[in-house]
Amino acid sequence: MSQTNRQWILKTRPTGLVGPEHFELKEAPIPTPGDGEILLRSLYFSFDPTQRGWLNPGESYIPPVEIGEPMRAGAIGQVVASNKEGFAAGDIVQGTFSWQEYVVTDGSGPFPLTKLSTDYPLTYNLSIYGITGLTAFFGLREVGKMKAGDVVLVSGAAGATGSVVGQIAKAMGAKKVVGIAGGPDKCKWLVEEGGFDAAIDYKSDNIAEKIGQHCPDGVNVFFDNVGGASLDAALLHIAEGARVVICGGISSGYSGWDAEGPRNYMMLILRSASMEGFLVLTYGAQFPDAVAQLAAWQAEGKIQVAEYVVEGFENAPTTLQGLFTGKNLGKTILKVSEATVDA
Ligand code: NAP
Repeated sequence: MSQTNRQWILKTRPTGLVGPEHFELKEAPIPTPGDGEILLRSLYFSFDPTQRGWLNPGESYIPPVEIGEPMRAGAIGQVVASNKEGFAAGDIVQGTFSWQEYVVTDGSGPFPLTKLSTDYPLTYNLSIYGITGLTAFFGLREVGKMKAGDVVLVSGAAGATGSVVGQIAKAMGAKKVVGIAGGPDKCKWLVEEGGFDAAIDYKSDNIAEKIGQHCPDGVNVFFDNVGGASLDAALLHIAEGARVVICGGISSGYSGWDAEGPRNYMMLILRSASMEGFLVLTYGAQFPDAVAQLAAWQAEGKIQVAEYVVEGFENAPTTLQGLFTGKNLGKTILKVSEATVDA
């Protein structure tokens, strides 16, 4: 076991695009777990746009990361030493950890400490069975109230959440699924691998015009990960009784809560439609059932898992930035180290 612990510490708060300049790489001794705590070695970090929100000062659904603290992250690790009942050296666990090679935790945080099965790739716990897969599932089913025969439109469609939304929609019997994503490669993947019926490249297409062409009878469910121009365009094409699911608004850059509001929202009146936001953690009690359903669809070949895996602890800040510059296709994950048989 290495004797030092590398950490990425928050140096300054970003005001716009987050990047390496906002973090500092430090070395510290490997910490010792106290009562009720475990020491773990980091294996994989999850990258989530919400992490950018954690860098803003002030109120959110959890406290901000403070300057001088290691950057918070959903992650997977292997227990090195445990003073916590139910956990032993060698266990593979998932939870809310931080950008450190070694982490001491009592298991608190928005993503609770869970022991993982090793029956399938560990990264699935961050992608298809992780927060983004679950967000797709609950957003589409509970908020979008999607039913067979619906026309479903998804923005951020080639990302971790969006790629699963489109595939679940097909598995649930959607009449048509159209994705909006940035660039020809992502659009090609949506149609050729992701099973979407059509894709719109928001970087080169006229979004509203294309939605009209692909969805001539209107959109029944719009699953929005992006906000801004995509939301404005989609609102023009909602069908009677449509459900607009506000999952995220990444086009705002998440540099604050004062993002510009939607235009064309009066279409909600004309189409007797609804627009509703949600936080996936609300559905925590139902996560095991959702994972079972996602696994069943996957076993039937209805869901392809898309992951964008970067290697190397030193790449954490640039990998986070990549979410906001569209580097990823599927779930963004950083591999920090390999799980071992002896912890
Ligand atoms: P992701 O989609 O895998 O990655 C982010 C993607 O956003 C990028 O790949 C990029 O794709 C796109 N993007 C970045 N800047 C953009 C811009 N200015 N305009 C349009 N697209 C842009 O990330 P994710 O983890 O799955 O998250 C997707 C959304 O779900 C986010 O808004 C996130 O906040 C939200 N979310 C919400 C909940 C909840 O509980 N409500 C939970 C999890 C995630 P392109 O190349 O296509 O631009």
